[in-house]
Amino acid sequence: MIIGIPKEIKTNEHRIGMTPAGVKELILNGHEVLVQKDGGASIGFFDADYSSAGARIVDTPEEIFATADMVIKVKEPQLPECKLLRPNQILFTYLHLAPDPAQADALIASGATCIAYETVTQASGGLPLLAPMSEVAGRLSITAGAHHMQMLYGGSGMLLGGVPGVEPAKVLIIGGGVVGINAAKMALGLGAQVTLVDRSIDRLRQLDDIFNGRVRTLFSTADTIEREALESQLIIGAVLIPGASAPKLISRELVGRLNPGTVMVDVAIDQGGCFETSRATTHQEPTYVIDGVIHYCVANMPGAVARTSTVALTNATLPFAVALANQGAYDALNQNPHLANGLNVNAGLITHVSVAQALGKSY
Ligand code: NAD
Repeated sequence: MIIGIPKEIKTNEHRIGMTPAGVKELILNGHEVLVQKDGGASIGFFDADYSSAGARIVDTPEEIFATADMVIKVKEPQLPECKLLRPNQILFTYLHLAPDPAQADALIASGATCIAYETVTQASGGLPLLAPMSEVAGRLSITAGAHHMQMLYGGSGMLLGGVPGVEPAKVLIIGGGVVGINAAKMALGLGAQVTLVDRSIDRLRQLDDIFNGRVRTLFSTADTIEREALESQLIIGAVLIPGASAPKLISRELVGRLNPGTVMVDVAIDQGGCFETSRATTHQEPTYVIDGVIHYCVANMPGAVARTSTVALTNATLPFAVALANQGAYDALNQNPHLANGLNVNAGLITHVSVAQALGKSY
């Protein structure tokens, strides 16, 4: 199979679909790999590294999309990329289609086989291709949030961990999955008082065991979230309902009653955001303020630490990429129901039930 790795074109995105080490594995499995010139240069993966791994360097995305049987990317294809996709071509990348009808329509029109990292599952539960980026985003959510708590940014002026004799800040984490647990580890490490809410009691039990009581765990209800949010200086939105838009758990009205200087980091923004006032921002302009409440809603947070993120992503995607390349999409998807759960669009149809429901399309 010919596999193509284009340079990412989304604003400030420096990750690339595969490291040189990952490319070498694909080549050892008998495949040909095309990598776009300078695709990984900004994070220290140079064309020479890809060439040494056995890849062929090509100049343009057009060459990659026209030749490759499978395109491996990081971010959802931007509209110019969607136009380059062909029927039966495999696209293996993050899609986050539920809140993005324009992209969904473009992928339907392409006729391509579009497998979304974020809905691939695994036997032990969880989402193996979302997890590494969630680990990164969860850890970053605390450092980004703590940064914006400074006066300069309109924050509360509290140091997350306080100092001896001074109360630390209160952090509320909504959603105790991979983002939530990594945020909690980081916030605890910096000395904050951490409360974590989730609507899964089993998950709360696990978290209580893991943190041995050092994190308060509470069942997620509108009442609990309201009470805790009014007391917190930093709120992290980290919920997920796979394939669906995020539920709005902090209303516009509640934002108006939060303490001025509260920082809200909506990590779930890539699924539409879990605060009613959230809208996606970029690394260049990561925040905006409503009623004195700072909103940080960067949709591609792991892009800020693109080198770590690229290696972590390749570690997770490589076994699936090898299976798709070795067996072809039809056999690989038929033999692995967890990979098949990643299929979002195929031959002009939405093929994932939650994505179809979120978009109001037939399935
Ligand atoms: P996850 O599935 O591991 O965890 C989600 C948790 O949310 C689960 O424990 C679930 O029980 C909980 N939950 C669902 N509804 C809830 C509710 N009403 N109240 C409280 N908890 C609720 O998911 P994850 O990997 O932690 O991802 C969380 C979100 O972060 C996703 O939307 C994901 O797409 C997003 N994400 C964003 C970025 C970014 O750069 N912005 C990066 C990685 C992940």
